Formats: sequence, structure tokens, C-alpha cells
Amino acid sequence: MKPFRFCPACASELERGSDEGYRCSNCGRSWYRNSAPAAGAAIVKNGKVLVTERGIEPKKGLCDIPGGFLGAGEHPVDALKRELREELGVEIEVDVGDCISMVPHVYGDEGDYVLALGFLARWVGGELRAADDVAAFRWVDLDELETLDFAWEHDRTVARTALLREKESSDGGP
Ligand SMILES: [Zn+2]
Repeated sequence: MKPFRFCPACASELERGSDEGYRCSNCGRSWYRNSAPAAGAAIVKNGKVLVTERGIEPKKGLCDIPGGFLGAGEHPVDALKRELREELGVEIEVDVGDCISMVPHVYGDEGDYVLALGFLARWVGGELRAADDVAAFRWVDLDELETLDFAWEHDRTVARTALLREKESSDGGP
């Protein structure tokens, strides 16, 4: 949530708050600065991971993994499936146990807090096309992954983990 200057309910000016939030001295409501949850997916196919290029600010033009913010009351797994369908036309299989990363970070230049959930997801089907917030996509191997400019380093980490897990299982490793 952003650091509000005015009460979203009664429009009174708020005193400078802390990271915990604000209490409106006019209407008495509290506004907490909780993180907004977002979910991202790393999908591996033929030894390469799917990386997207951001088509919108913040960090337009930099790489991330596909996904997006949760809707009101939406389960993270449902949100992830919906985002992949909307952004890329892809159907994925993913479950709660596939979540391998939870990273709180500041998003954009207005001080929004985001909790980024990273999942290992499996390709089910679809025909890839970039839409919505996605400008482009590409399949990359481990070497190329390290050369890309990522919007957030935790997305690279999730993508790297997906590739390494895939390599382990195809090598017959642990
Ligand atoms: Zn108020």
C-alpha cells in the first residue's frame, strides 16, 4: 500500500505516518501499510525457462517472470493461473507446495510494499503470445539467464532454481 497523504475514507489530511501505517484523527480509521501480494511463475520447457519483458512501469523494458498482483479475495494459485492465461495465453499446473520464494520489496517510486511469491509451475498448454503488461517473452538457458537485466533479482533467483531443479531431475540426481 502507498504512503497516503490524505485519508482514503474522509479525505482529511493525515499526519506523517510510519511504516506501520496511519490513523486518521478525523474519522478514526486505521490505514495499514501491508504488502500487496503478487505471484510469479517459473516454467521450464526443453531445458529453458520462460522470461518476460515488462511492457509497463515500473521498470518497463526489464525482465521478470510472468505473473501479477492478486485480485481482491483471490487465491495466489488462482491469480497465477489467471495472469498466465491473460498475459501469455498459457495454461499452467501449479499448487501451493510449488511456492519456493517469498520476498517483500518496495515496488515503484511511491513506496508501495509488495510481497512477491515465486512458484515453480508446469506447462500444460496454450499458444504463447504477449499481451497486457507483457511486451515480449523468450526461453533462456542458465547462461543467458545470468546476462539479462532483471527488474527484481528475486525473479532471476526463482527462474534459476527452476532450471537447476529441472536439470537435477533430468540428470537422475537427488
Ligand atoms: Zn478519515
